Amino acid sequence: MAKIYYEKDAKPEVLEGQKIAIIGYGSQGHAHAQNLTDSGLDVVVGLREGDPDIETVKGLGIAVATVEEAAAMGDIVMILIPDDVQARVYRDSIRPGLKSGNALFFAHGFNIHYSQIVPPDDIDVIMVAPKGPGPMVRQMFVEGGGVPSLVAVYQDYSGMALDRGLAYAKGLGAARAGVIETTFKEETETDLFGEQAVLCGGCSELIKAGFDTLVEAGYQPEIAYFECLHELKLIVDLIHYHGISGMRQRVSDTAEYGDLTRGPEVISPEVREVMKGILDDVQTGRFASEWVLENQANRATMEALRRREAEHPIEELGKQLRSMMSWLNE
Ligand code: NAD
Ligand code: MG
Repeated sequence: MAKIYYEKDAKPEVLEGQKIAIIGYGSQGHAHAQNLTDSGLDVVVGLREGDPDIETVKGLGIAVATVEEAAAMGDIVMILIPDDVQARVYRDSIRPGLKSGNALFFAHGFNIHYSQIVPPDDIDVIMVAPKGPGPMVRQMFVEGGGVPSLVAVYQDYSGMALDRGLAYAKGLGAARAGVIETTFKEETETDLFGEQAVLCGGCSELIKAGFDTLVEAGYQPEIAYFECLHELKLIVDLIHYHGISGMRQRVSDTAEYGDLTRGPEVISPEVREVMKGILDDVQTGRFASEWVLENQANRATMEALRRREAEHPIEELGKQLRSMMSWLNE
């Protein structure tokens, strides 16, 4: 079982007198900058020249600087820009400002785990990754709570890397909810596997396969859309709030019996074998190097696949049907 830390485990004094540079002011960045500031920590936000958020941050009374300046000022440098630009921005604008004993923070492990960023030996490398979107990290904090987060130490030069991570998590409000210890390897590999096999990849293909099966058998696409896509949210919400058994208690007995007997036929032993292959691609770095090269190739494959997928009949039909549901357009 994982080790879980709470506020009482944090030693806020390790961040006393330390400047925290938050690089980026997007989904996570805005929440980290504001929560840490409200917790009394010394924050500077690093943004590119001309970034429209410069005025937003100034308006809140939080210091702003260029990415280069903020990285040089920060004892702690948290990188909260998109994962696929981090390596370049690190090399050009952050690495030059790192000093011995500084700490580089991440909210996702991809660039460290797959060696896209190779930090010097004389700094700490730490992850604090909220398990929720930035706006929720901010809202929960304001309401006096927090979003559970992960903490991981990749490199502990100072000998107090974990304490720095926990003190940061406390400032973020995360330690009110619980901070789960993990590693960069575990966070990165499970995150990629989850989004590929289950959340994004598995789920969208499951929807399309069900829809195509019904339409090819002569059923009306509108009806297939409701059964295979629209109603998914009701079921996912039940699972989210009550777990899988709780969902089963809340659907009809007919639905539950069909689930129990037919579900394992859909996700057959062969599908489970395929999942192992997907995990192997993640663990060996095959997926990571493919994605890095894809970005260098200006995303040729990704753009072609995006276009092809957007042409699937379920997309055009979905636009039309969603426009009939006024509550979806608010
Ligand atoms: P985001 O896409 O919202 O980041 C946008 C910010 O990055 C903006 O301030 C933008 O100006 C800046 N930016 C973009 N390109 C830049 C560049 N080339 N140079 C300098 N600044 C640039 O990012 P996010 O979704 O908040 O993700 C940040 C990190 O947090 C990632 O590592 C991500 O994996 C992780 N994470 C995100 C979430 C989430 O819910 N979004 C949850 C947990 C962890
Ligand atoms: Mg993720």
